[in-house]
Amino acid sequence: MRPFVLDPLFRAVSTLPGVGPKSVKLYEKLLGGGKVLDLLFHKPVDLIERIHAPSISAAEPGQTVSLRVIIDQHQPSPRRGQPYRIRCRDASGFIDLVFFNAHASWIDKQFPLAAEVLIGGRIESFRDRKQIVHPEPIDDDGSVATRFETIYPLTAGLTTKALRKSMLKALETAPDLPEWLDPAYQKKLRLPVWHDAIGSLHHPAGAGDLSASTPARMRLAYDELLSNQLTLALVRNRQRRASGRAFPVRGVLRKHLERNLPFELTKAQKSVLTEIDQDMASPRRMLRLLQGDVGSGKTIVAALAMMNALDGGMQAAIMAPTEILARQHGESLTPLLEKIGIKVTVLTGRDKGKPREKLLEQIASGEARLIIGTHSLFQDSVTFQDLGLAIIDEQHRFGVHQRLMLSGKGKGTDVMVMTATPIPRTLALTAYGDMDVSRITEKPPGRKPVDTRLIPQDRVDDMIAGIERQISEGVRAYWVCPLVEESEILDLSAATARYEELQGRFGDKVGLVHGKMKPAEKDEVMHRFASGEISVLVATTVIEVGVNVPAASVMVIEHAERFGLAQLHQLRGRVGRGQKQSYCFLVYAQPIGETAQERLKIMRQTEDGFLIAEKDLELRGTGEILGTRQSGLPEFRLADLGAHADLLLTARDDANLIIDRDPELKTPRGEALRTLLYLFEQDQAIAYLRSG
Ligand code: ADP
Ligand code: MG
Repeated sequence: MRPFVLDPLFRAVSTLPGVGPKSVKLYEKLLGGGKVLDLLFHKPVDLIERIHAPSISAAEPGQTVSLRVIIDQHQPSPRRGQPYRIRCRDASGFIDLVFFNAHASWIDKQFPLAAEVLIGGRIESFRDRKQIVHPEPIDDDGSVATRFETIYPLTAGLTTKALRKSMLKALETAPDLPEWLDPAYQKKLRLPVWHDAIGSLHHPAGAGDLSASTPARMRLAYDELLSNQLTLALVRNRQRRASGRAFPVRGVLRKHLERNLPFELTKAQKSVLTEIDQDMASPRRMLRLLQGDVGSGKTIVAALAMMNALDGGMQAAIMAPTEILARQHGESLTPLLEKIGIKVTVLTGRDKGKPREKLLEQIASGEARLIIGTHSLFQDSVTFQDLGLAIIDEQHRFGVHQRLMLSGKGKGTDVMVMTATPIPRTLALTAYGDMDVSRITEKPPGRKPVDTRLIPQDRVDDMIAGIERQISEGVRAYWVCPLVEESEILDLSAATARYEELQGRFGDKVGLVHGKMKPAEKDEVMHRFASGEISVLVATTVIEVGVNVPAASVMVIEHAERFGLAQLHQLRGRVGRGQKQSYCFLVYAQPIGETAQERLKIMRQTEDGFLIAEKDLELRGTGEILGTRQSGLPEFRLADLGAHADLLLTARDDANLIIDRDPELKTPRGEALRTLLYLFEQDQAIAYLRSG
């Protein structure tokens, strides 16, 4: 049970004075949770120095200031994507206040015409005018009691003032917690106790205190990383204790398949297979992550590993994240495997009724030995006769608890996760720290590098003309339309508009695929693209990861400046698979930010997925890596892997040492560490201790 000492942190924010029933929803939206703890973990992002209040003319771009201004004019957003502007002045000059996605009612209330208001924020210069984006209304009570105002990320309807007030109340209720840090380490880095650290987080005494490397921030980050690593160490420990099975490696079927491959394995493929064989031959359970860029040849490695299980008289299964991918695996592996007399059984959500029952029977009886499916293979209704090896493909939505569940399907089933997402080492440690890692670092020979070009939006017509010529020569092109403001509907309308326009040009050689289509419809369009019946495939970003149409050699990405590096890399990976010279056109629209520029530049410079992933981490920090929140990678609230990579390595060593010495967390430090796990809601990990 959760230690009582944590109770004040797990109360609802609505228990704080000043947080009424109406604002609770806003808090939940902003914090992603409604607990006092969620509030305390909400980091300030900026400071406004209240006494730094120059005139408009004296305020320089780049400075964070407070200004007393008069509201002259409201200019509502002229069209979507354009900001709402408020023109203001003082005796010395003019300035604009700029709001993106603002609620007009909130703006009207905060900035009534002709009023004099005190606002704070960072001065920017835009088309020769000064402006402040999302200025902060400052509480104008005339007092200068505190020199700095902390600025927090907000959500529409919630003011800084209200948030700051509830934060102070939350801090008052924050308890003293038992110390779980190693005393020597704490002393060496001069890390404050938890209570002081959380206090300092919200009471910065200067801009320097917002940095990730203050002792308080390091303390909080370390706690979070330690809880993450401790959880993984517990999982690992539990998995390892459950014994695995020793497979005969390099047996008859394995050798047979290897001899029948139409190509020679690359050095990288051979070397990861050696690692896999070692794992499988040992009586310990295999828990391995296989990383390799799109097209690096993971599937065949998987097939060869599966032969070990079959040679041992057991079953093997591959699970793919989507139906299309599952079927594609089936299609690419069936010819190879049939040649050596192995039947491939494919089971997806589309198999229904009697046929499905028959397949399930075959899986349960062991008649089906090599099974390919979607994640529905995890469902309770699927029973294996004797699953020796489970391979999970292209999966970063696959958390540690799901891995545990899967290995529960068989007796000591070996598990391998394959991912085409080149995850930087630090990140791999936080998500897959319980697994061993193999990397395929080279591609099969004969691949030509993709020619990547940056195309400004106003040159799109020239590009289309170029593509038209290529298409008349039989080239096939993907055309990706981006997510518009995270709205699937707008997203779709952008893609539809482009589709119709291209139809005007290419007629029925154009197809459209999007997320709202039924799987069967998607399949059908994809199939027509693969067969060459259509030449241009317009798609929202849903082009399934891993879809393989080797004949496609052109990739157009519209609004490339909006995509993350990992996404761009994944998309570009769809081409460059065949013999033809491939092209990737990154179409961008002005204005383009510095980071976006940097991303496009990197895309032009390299195709090395691991390098790109490291750069991505550098540019964006972990929160956004992989472009998606559903990535399944842990999201840290206090730690920033860009800044705290060293802490992560220490936390890993610390966690391993702890589990070696005190696997059930029974010592006094162990007890305190349990509190840490509860603090970060790793209750599941604590369950492993009990059932251990
Ligand atoms: P991944 O799953 O890593 O994206 P695949 O396993 O789908 O990559 O391989 C991509 C393509 O390369 C497939 O058509 C496959 O047959 C081919 N391939 C795999 N390994 C080799 C190799 N060693 N030599 C030549 N072609 C290979
Ligand atoms: Mg693949």
